[in-house]
Amino acid sequence: MDNATLMARDLAHIWHPCTQMKDHESIPIIPIKRAKGVYLYDFEDNRYIDSISSWWVNLFGHSNDYINAKIAEQLETLEHVIFAGFTHEQIVRLSERLCALTGLQKCFYADNGSSAVEVALKMAFHFFKNAGEVRPYFVSLTNSYHGETLGALAVGDVELYKETYEEILIQTLQTPVPKDRSPEATAAALAAMEELFTKYEGKISALIVEPLVQCAGYMHMYSPDFLRGAKELCEAHNIFFIADEIAVGFGRTGTMFACEQAGIKPDFMCLSKGLTGGYLPLSVVLTSDRVYNMFYCDYNEFKAFLHSHSYTGNALACAAANATLDIFEQENVIEKNRTKSDYIAKKLEKFKELPNVKEVRQTGMIAAVELQGYDPKMRIGLRINQECLRRGVFIRPLGPVVYFMPPYVIDFDQIDTMIDTVYEVVSSL
Ligand SMILES: *Cc1c(COP(=O)(O)O)cnc(C)c1O
Repeated sequence: MDNATLMARDLAHIWHPCTQMKDHESIPIIPIKRAKGVYLYDFEDNRYIDSISSWWVNLFGHSNDYINAKIAEQLETLEHVIFAGFTHEQIVRLSERLCALTGLQKCFYADNGSSAVEVALKMAFHFFKNAGEVRPYFVSLTNSYHGETLGALAVGDVELYKETYEEILIQTLQTPVPKDRSPEATAAALAAMEELFTKYEGKISALIVEPLVQCAGYMHMYSPDFLRGAKELCEAHNIFFIADEIAVGFGRTGTMFACEQAGIKPDFMCLSKGLTGGYLPLSVVLTSDRVYNMFYCDYNEFKAFLHSHSYTGNALACAAANATLDIFEQENVIEKNRTKSDYIAKKLEKFKELPNVKEVRQTGMIAAVELQGYDPKMRIGLRINQECLRRGVFIRPLGPVVYFMPPYVIDFDQIDTMIDTVYEVVSSL
């Protein structure tokens, strides 16, 4: 089998995500035969550094020996079981560990990030309903992204994904994200939030935020002080605080969870992506006993949370998640990442001197280089993507923002290759 043959067979029957399929008349789809560590290998044995962790999911490399073994072990005992009325060892263990890590008490599972967001929104609304209050509004930040299902899309604010569906989305309110990390920007955004909360007093169920980094929103970054201030405002106005750590959780921002940097504990925390080390679809919403108890009563009071997905709590996915947490415990990952993110920061310095670079920004293992001076119609990101692929580096810019979010197993030589390649391309544009 070669690349071209497999691509032709693919195009005959497959509609790819987040893609204008006509692009593939001129841009090849790359069939991947195998992957190991940070490398993807195609059917002609070309290799590519996976600089964006296959859409931010992979933590410890592709085909990781330890995670492979743990999934194989689980496969011999139980692959999946209905999760209403049944449980299994992997998910019990995983839930104990997630609660210990986050300081929250209850886990509700789903099978992808968007579904976790739906669960958190529904739970927050339902909590108030069970308490005899109807609060139809959710608040989110401008430039936010929370997924693609209708509820998640409605709380998001990336025009490209949302605009088309405007007429069929639930009611949401947006409050400005701080425009940068300065105290002035933080204070201005908090003042706007307070005004909105006051205007809609008693009508808002929850505020949902992506802590510290709005990843899909062009890797926009803001101060932990804003998170702390937002949590305080939520408490003052009796509004739930939903932390969507789907992208930033599991060490991406330099701490296990981004909320830790603000010293806050959310009412709901959504996790997915890195949860299984990038192996299998799984998501979870963590919440408190206080929330749980509002739904806890005799069946005929009809206050139960009747939400489910067929693959909720999949045992193989939970085995991958436990293996991922084992690696965090055994290998001092957060500490080692600090050395790597410092190294990345140093390597990015030279971008700042390029005339076509507007800003370089970084939070932990997420680093972004924002370019300037290109008309969106030029699709400069796509051009960079193609040039880098030719040089063995897979990078997938968001518009004019080139970013690095590599698997944590990337070594210093691979960081050199990844960043030097992008520099070569960006400086030659
Ligand atoms: C990716 C992402 C989601 C959606 O997760 P899916 O598994 O793609 O549905 C939600 N929120 C954030 C912050 C994300 O980055």
